[in-house]
Amino acid sequence: MAKQRVGLYPGTFDPITLGHTDIIRRATRLVDRLVIAVAVNRDKGPMFPLEERLEMVTEEVEGMGDPEGCRIEVRPFENLLTDLADEVGAGFVIRGLRGVTDLDYEYQMVGMNARLNPGVETVFLTASHEYQFIASRLVREIARMQGDIGAFVPERVAARLRQMFNSGN
Ligand code: ADP
Repeated sequence: MAKQRVGLYPGTFDPITLGHTDIIRRATRLVDRLVIAVAVNRDKGPMFPLEERLEMVTEEVEGMGDPEGCRIEVRPFENLLTDLADEVGAGFVIRGLRGVTDLDYEYQMVGMNARLNPGVETVFLTASHEYQFIASRLVREIARMQGDIGAFVPERVAARLRQMFNSGN
């Protein structure tokens, strides 16, 4: 049997946005199995608890069905990404790139990850232009101020945010 291509897409997903779902959809065309790893990320003090972030990601990928025959798994992670890659048998990590600010940070991370685990490649997918400006951080800020986040996140996520901040949108 041919070797399976396994990709690992890590993030905080606080919350999952249309930018993330776009990357996931496109990544499924590249791999046989896609592991979406939701970071515990205590440093960032996420707005949504891990369980809810996992739930939101799971709901959205379920809606995608089985695109291109790719199996999608969603799991939490707390330790080193390079160790997780070995654990799940991933040959590469998938990241989305929105522009130079992402690139700066990502470049550094790739360099360090390559030293930690030379067997794992990082593959960048550039953001689709319609989602390029979407960031979870801004979505959180807008939602907090009761702005309409409907154009940036999946409908179920928007509903959770509206409920959380009790806005009438
Ligand atoms: P992290 O804490 O790892 O940056 P995020 O959840 O913010 O977690 O992002 C996860 C990945 O998704 C990162 O590679 C990020 O660059 C990418 N990403 C986030 N928003 C978008 C977007 N709008 N378009 C494309 N990629 C994105």
